[in-house]
Amino acid sequence: MALTGIEIFKMLPKTNCKECGFPTCLAFAMALASGKAELDKCPYVSDEAKEKLAAASAPPIRPVKLAMKEGVKTIGGETVMFRHEKTFFNPTIIAGLITTDTPDAEVDKKLDQFMKLQYDRVGLLLRPEMIVVHDASGDAGKFTALAKKVADKTDAAILLCSDKADVVKAGAEAIKDRKPTLGVATAANADAMGAVAKEMGLALVVKGEGYDALAELTTKLTGMGLKDLIVDTGARALKQALQDQIVIRRAPLTAGFKPFGFPTITVPAQMTTDPMMEKLYAAVFIAKYGGIVVVNDLAADGIFPLLLSRLNIFTDPQKPMIITPGIYEIGTPDENSPVAVTTNFALTYFIVSGEIEASKVSTWLIIQDTEGLSVMTAWAAGKFSGDSVAMWVKKCGILDKVKTRTLIIPGYAAGISGDLEEELPDWKVLIGPREASHIPALLKTL
Ligand code: SF4
Repeated sequence: MALTGIEIFKMLPKTNCKECGFPTCLAFAMALASGKAELDKCPYVSDEAKEKLAAASAPPIRPVKLAMKEGVKTIGGETVMFRHEKTFFNPTIIAGLITTDTPDAEVDKKLDQFMKLQYDRVGLLLRPEMIVVHDASGDAGKFTALAKKVADKTDAAILLCSDKADVVKAGAEAIKDRKPTLGVATAANADAMGAVAKEMGLALVVKGEGYDALAELTTKLTGMGLKDLIVDTGARALKQALQDQIVIRRAPLTAGFKPFGFPTITVPAQMTTDPMMEKLYAAVFIAKYGGIVVVNDLAADGIFPLLLSRLNIFTDPQKPMIITPGIYEIGTPDENSPVAVTTNFALTYFIVSGEIEASKVSTWLIIQDTEGLSVMTAWAAGKFSGDSVAMWVKKCGILDKVKTRTLIIPGYAAGISGDLEEELPDWKVLIGPREASHIPALLKTL
């Protein structure tokens, strides 16, 4: 539960020394309570107060970092049940499963597929991030070899899974520079598995069959000093697994139940052998509330819709998706290529740029800042007016790139053409179609 400014103030030294950058301890306390300052700015807070304040400000669901070859991905750290209440912060990690009894050729194919699953969308890279290496035989040599292969051939975050702590340890030591996540700690091996994770400073997956068993396990492991846990209720039937996700999200958020305050892992790969059903299950857990979703099949036609679904779920609903204003080259435009202008609403950009690309007519596309509004809304709000478009055309740098002096504007903004021609006397304004699908036909006539 968040503390009020007054509650925080009571724990501060109250000397008003100003070293934190605030005139008084009370002002600093108020800033802390509203998240506008950080506790370490005050060098005089006692250790006891620090501990209390840190615990009070800790998120109810612990954020856990997963290391990829380059950079880290965070799961957990969510603060709401429903996206519209605020936003969901840390996208579900999509993971591919490879077991030690998978034939070599199949392993190579999967690793190859994994690395090819990368799509640039709205300026973001959409891709799966993790490979789960699963021990099917208890053979530490085979497990280690597979872990090394995954580390060598991919940049994935790696989750090493076995029932045996010594097998997991062997694999983890072989690829320790990749900081793998370990698993799976159960009631039978929690001591040994917890000890390996603690010794190596790595995150650990914990599996308990049922809520009581899971709570007992996470309590035991946190008691051993482990902080970065990822929980698995062991359910492999959709209905129960979904119910578990909701319970595990709700318990820490609404009741402050700390034993469930961790991100989850869900395993559609073990729920069905049908690749399509597997992706449907995965989509369910991306929506509610999987931290990691593990699938077996990495074919692009199944993974791509999951990536898009994830993009939608984890996009802040209160912020429009926008494109950075500027000049975009569609194809390889030169000084004689057509010039078009539209707004910086991401959907508008992608539809328009997609149609221009399909036309095969290389074009300069000027994107104007309309605060993420679409053409009609921006025009109605006065953010895509003759004046503002003309000003942006003069300022954005297109005049240095083209000899062309014909500017294509969206059909829905036809009303600005007169003002535009007045503001840009050297330019001819061409009113484009209302429907983006008609853009190629227009471009081909130019
Ligand atoms: Fe108070 Fe600490 Fe700020 Fe000094 S540095 S004014 S003691 S909060």
